[in-house]
Amino acid sequence: MTEPFALRDEMGPEKIIHFHDPSTGLQAILVIDNIAAGPAIGGCRMAVDVSLDECARLARAMTLKNAAAGLPHGGGKSVIVGDPKMPIADKEKLVRSFAHAIKDLTDYIVGPDMGTDETCMAWCHDVIGRCVGMPRAIGGIPLDEIGATGYGLSVAIEVATDYCDLDLKGATFAIQGFGSVGIHTARFLAAKGAVLVGAVDIHGGKVDPNGLDVDALMAIKGVGGRVLDLDQGRSIERDAIIDVECDIWVPAARPDVITMDNVHRLNTKIVAQGANIPASAEAELELEKRGTLILPDFIANAGGVICGAVEYLGSGEYQAMSMIAEKISANTRNVLESAKRDGVSSRQAAVTIANDRVRRAMSYRKTH
Ligand code: NAD
Repeated sequence: MTEPFALRDEMGPEKIIHFHDPSTGLQAILVIDNIAAGPAIGGCRMAVDVSLDECARLARAMTLKNAAAGLPHGGGKSVIVGDPKMPIADKEKLVRSFAHAIKDLTDYIVGPDMGTDETCMAWCHDVIGRCVGMPRAIGGIPLDEIGATGYGLSVAIEVATDYCDLDLKGATFAIQGFGSVGIHTARFLAAKGAVLVGAVDIHGGKVDPNGLDVDALMAIKGVGGRVLDLDQGRSIERDAIIDVECDIWVPAARPDVITMDNVHRLNTKIVAQGANIPASAEAELELEKRGTLILPDFIANAGGVICGAVEYLGSGEYQAMSMIAEKISANTRNVLESAKRDGVSSRQAAVTIANDRVRRAMSYRKTH
């Protein structure tokens, strides 16, 4: 956890806190990046190799995502050093120890992230009563179960069709990463009449230009199966999904999957970024040069954090879905209009909008 730390500017971070509790084995970091708009919301990541640099970059990404979504929340992130697959009793001890450590840091509201889940949030809630992404039984909205992020992506895609002369009914789409985000994106797009022509998970996947059966795929994944188990279509290796020609390509797996080495293989009208940072900056610019519309990650995949903010207010699933639709459709339109008007990339437009909002929020704060 020792490394040089570069990210420091007029926006933040507001606080960087290291925790070490030898009695529980807790080693953790919390970065509260910016709280001008309200208490920071951001996930708690558990992994063996987490670092301050990663935590700070993720905290800044949350500042921009929450600002872009127009939420009354700033951005923050926390990391706990540990193997998320450790015995459950050890994990509970560590997470409870972390929750105790952040008890008085009321500017930070914790949520789930890689390596933590709704059960971890229930433990945090038991200790500090200040978190999102909790189980339904204690008033949470299980965002992966309802498909908050996938729903938001489908809303962003529907708006984007107005900017590339595409009818969503009959439009073809492919999904890289048929997990929580990918499955629900497929479900909502299929409900709007779009046709899933390719899908992969980590094991590989299937392609069918006439359309894969989304319900059958969901049933397979629901019992822990693989996309390859679908009794339909042609089997492909997982990295071959980039070659599937379609109108909408949805990365929903890992970062850095579209690079200058493979961008020439992508043949699509829209790239809707479910995963965080799925494309390099150069590859994004190359796609835009070719006329592909990019829906930047922190605009298009904000459904989860919007859902968390609604949960924090004590409202329910219906309000969460309405808020996701309202905010993501307005923000996507705003980004695509600004990009067109100012002749900049959609990412540049999105970053400018988010930065402006954070600065405006900062201007309303007392200076002492
Ligand atoms: P998940 O673990 O439920 O699903 C990931 C899927 O990707 C799995 O099906 C896995 O088999 C597949 N996969 C992994 N590596 C792959 C590879 N190399 N090629 C093809 N498929 C691969 O995760 P998720 O919650 O759906 O999140 C997916 C991405 O979206 C992550 O980058 C996450 O950070 C981002 N994200 C998630 C949310 C959310 O609400 N869950 C919100 C914002 C962003």
